[in-house]
Amino acid sequence: MSSASRPRADAVRSGAELRVHEDAIRANVRYFARCTRDRLMAVLKADGFGHGSLASAVVDEGATWLGVASIDEALVLRRARPDVPILSWLNPVDADFDAAVSERIDLGVSSADGLHAIVQAARHLGRRARLHLHVDLGMSRDGTPASDWRSLCELARMAEREGHVRVVGVMGHMSCADRPENPQNLRERLLFGAAIRSARHRGLAPAVTHLAATAATITGAGGDHDLHRIGAGLYGIDPSRTSSALRFALSLHAPVISARRVGSGVSVGYGGCFTTDGPTHLALFPLGYADGLPRAASHRAEVLVRGRRRPIVGLISMDMVVVDTGDDLLTPGETATFFGPGEQGEPTVADWATWAQTIEHEIVTRIGARVARVHRRTHIERNPE
Ligand SMILES: *Cc1c(COP(=O)(O)O)cnc(C)c1O
Repeated sequence: MSSASRPRADAVRSGAELRVHEDAIRANVRYFARCTRDRLMAVLKADGFGHGSLASAVVDEGATWLGVASIDEALVLRRARPDVPILSWLNPVDADFDAAVSERIDLGVSSADGLHAIVQAARHLGRRARLHLHVDLGMSRDGTPASDWRSLCELARMAEREGHVRVVGVMGHMSCADRPENPQNLRERLLFGAAIRSARHRGLAPAVTHLAATAATITGAGGDHDLHRIGAGLYGIDPSRTSSALRFALSLHAPVISARRVGSGVSVGYGGCFTTDGPTHLALFPLGYADGLPRAASHRAEVLVRGRRRPIVGLISMDMVVVDTGDDLLTPGETATFFGPGEQGEPTVADWATWAQTIEHEIVTRIGARVARVHRRTHIERNPE
């Protein structure tokens, strides 16, 4: 093969296909735009939770802000949407704050060191950086500890006076919002309210306060604030499992590579962990743990093929799995559905999460680069309202 015709590393395909049903995401965005009364920040981090970024689609359907973790993710969105406010909240102190400030990316700030790095960039550019001060409410994770909140507010106010920054927002994130009855939710809501008052008391005038993500928005556990940062829900994942309004947007398919008839007592895969207990048929598919199928789902997972659920047998390998198809000898090239919305009886991402003892988020964000992404924009009637 000549070097010119070799596939690029980012286009090495296995034959498996991840279909992204954009109409489902659009419907979910409309749902959240309605229930937040147009105060919707669409969270598109991790390549839109593995769905592709879809910045324009979510803005067209009513998202008024976009949110991501890193500046690099934000810059990609900025190219797609020059017109929408974009927030990035998780960056190391040596991140490219020059680029962020130049491209009008709002920045979440959780420490004096982070603030200092942003001020340097703003000073150097002669522009004001737009900040959202982030308070930790009980996760000990990415917000500033409540004990440091007052001094961070004072430092930010000083930088405002010097003309380097403007504090446009105050943000927090809830630890237990998927369980609305957990008393921790009330504690975190009260702490967030106190943090906002404390910021105002120090002369800051944040135009937007935001606390709730998907679960807190659906259950109401986040109270009433100016913006809702919605990630999982855009993709049909409800961590609180209380809503039936959301639509799942992905389906994962793979073609049969080969199929064979086997007798009783034949072992399958590494370690011989599975042995047939009678004559049956096996089919091989090019999807494995390098493509995002969790190996921990071995001995439990199923696929849909020829209209029936069939078990994956043996350990899930890096590149492939074997499916026991019972009486059916499959034909190379025919396809199985590994997951989808569940409407045809196929497994769902929630099933895979259960099989692997994880959450749906982890399944959808880990589909590997060898799986081709196919975006489908089927026209659908809007739900009658
Ligand atoms: C990921 C993330 C979100 C989105 O959360 P979902 O539960 O997926 O809606 C919101 N805010 C922050 C700070 C996040 O890291």
